[in-house]
Amino acid sequence: MPIRLLSPDVVSKIAAGEVVERPASVVKELIENSLDAGASQIDIEARAGGVNLIRVSDNGTGIPKDEVELAFQHHATSKIESLDDLDSRTSLGFRGEALHSIAHVAQVDMLTRASDDSSGTFVSLRGGEVAERGVRAAPRGTTVTVRHLFRNVPARLKFLKSAATESNQISNLVSQYCMAFPGVKFTLSIDGRQVLRTPGSGRLRDAIAEVYGLEVAQAMLEIKGAASESGMTPVVSGYTSPPALSRATRGYVSFFVNGRWVQSRALAGAVERAYEGWLGVRRYPISVINIAIAPQFVDVNVHPAKREVRFSQEPLVFNAVHGAIRRALSERAPIPEFREAPAFPTVPEREMPSLLRVENKPGTAEPPSPEPARRELPILRVLGQASLTYIIAEGPDGVYLIDQHAAHERVLFERALAQRSRRAVDVQSLLEPLPVDLTLKQQETLRTGGEMLSQFGFSLEPFGDRTYLVRAVPAMLAGKSISEAVKEAIDSLDDEAAGASEEERIARSLACHGSVRAGQLLSQEEMGELIRQLEKTASPRTCPHGRPTMIHLSAGRLEREFGRA
Ligand code: ADP
Ligand code: MG
Repeated sequence: MPIRLLSPDVVSKIAAGEVVERPASVVKELIENSLDAGASQIDIEARAGGVNLIRVSDNGTGIPKDEVELAFQHHATSKIESLDDLDSRTSLGFRGEALHSIAHVAQVDMLTRASDDSSGTFVSLRGGEVAERGVRAAPRGTTVTVRHLFRNVPARLKFLKSAATESNQISNLVSQYCMAFPGVKFTLSIDGRQVLRTPGSGRLRDAIAEVYGLEVAQAMLEIKGAASESGMTPVVSGYTSPPALSRATRGYVSFFVNGRWVQSRALAGAVERAYEGWLGVRRYPISVINIAIAPQFVDVNVHPAKREVRFSQEPLVFNAVHGAIRRALSERAPIPEFREAPAFPTVPEREMPSLLRVENKPGTAEPPSPEPARRELPILRVLGQASLTYIIAEGPDGVYLIDQHAAHERVLFERALAQRSRRAVDVQSLLEPLPVDLTLKQQETLRTGGEMLSQFGFSLEPFGDRTYLVRAVPAMLAGKSISEAVKEAIDSLDDEAAGASEEERIARSLACHGSVRAGQLLSQEEMGELIRQLEKTASPRTCPHGRPTMIHLSAGRLEREFGRA
């Protein structure tokens, strides 16, 4: 093909793709416009994952009638005049791209009235061009309606996930803005059902209660930021969960930089480090973290969708986040003894202290593999329990230390999967149905994944706004903390990042909740029974997360270590 200039229409669609990736990006841009317009109430509506309809109404300043059409021009903005303004700007928008882009990939109607105008202005755009304009009665503020998103960009439409997944993204996004702006009243309705409503009280704890439930909101620890004198050090505030309250996914940690929701692996790392020694492996906190920093020290102009930010003094920000959380935690709980990171998943065997090395049976020099195929266990005789955590057993060739929790997890994991596939699940009905409060996200997951959960023995039914009644659970959860187990099973369905299949993720989460804990005293019989069950599993040497269930000190190793051989 000869070189030629792309037509303006193609250029617009390509550029629009950078701002508008999916329905949630439209919602984000429209909410940001409403916030920039000083709205104190924002109502959001989405249908069919936002593809059929997205509508955002606000009671903000509105757009003066002679500027309405200009708002849809490329790089038309009322928020900055020059590049210098970027350094002092506090508005969320500034690129003047959103309305222009959205109008190129969807049908857009806008009804708006500024306080100085006596009537509202209506415009309707098709393919980026004004197709209809008029004067209508309207309250002060702006309503933008976006229909048939990506209908004219089939390639993009094809890459969208299911309507349920897109709705999920939208509710997650709106939840984030509710927490970033607790002073604004938000409502969200999805497919005609209202799923979120915040009071706009200005108190972050109230917004957290709407998003994560009352129990979580009440348990959260306040992060109090120390004000900085120079304005250069960021001020960190918000809420973070006490060590006893954690989640199995990273999805419950939010960051807002000057009110802008940002995603940052580095900041997430700072939070996780602050919890080191407090949370177990693969447990994550719930945190809502506001970072206030002078605008000149942060660059939000990194990505067209403004999802990422860059700090001119990155270590300063990380230290501030880490320190603020650490303080919130240590005011509540003394710092526990340092716990060494588990050596197994990361450290190659050869680098471990010699005593901890897993010995292979003499004569079989196969290298240890992370997920070994079935390797039969020898007959083991239980000698006792150490640290209320490890079972000490003797086999034909030396001594075995068995992690009681990991071993039980392996047993229950395989049992859950086997019972489900045989459709013979042991179910425990609850005498009294147990009410649990689910977050929006969990409710959406339940709507699509409920069938899978019921195959494992869960029975839940809706009961009021966000409450569900648990009527039955897999029998292995009897006597355990059922409300936590239910929530985590739902979260595990949603945790696509975990890699395994949905079935395995649920089984893993059940196994984790159903199994004996470290620190639990076991009788000789219980230990013997656990080992007999472990012997019957397909992969007795690893837990479902891939950690070892046991360490073997061979007779030969013991002799060598004691200088007998
Ligand atoms: P940006 O937000 O980057 O300025 P947009 O394309 O999102 O660019 O919006 C263009 C302009 O339209 C804004 O600068 C603002 O003046 C006006 N505008 C858009 N949405 C609203 C709204 N909800 N209320 C008031 N003004 C709005
Ligand atoms: Mg904008």
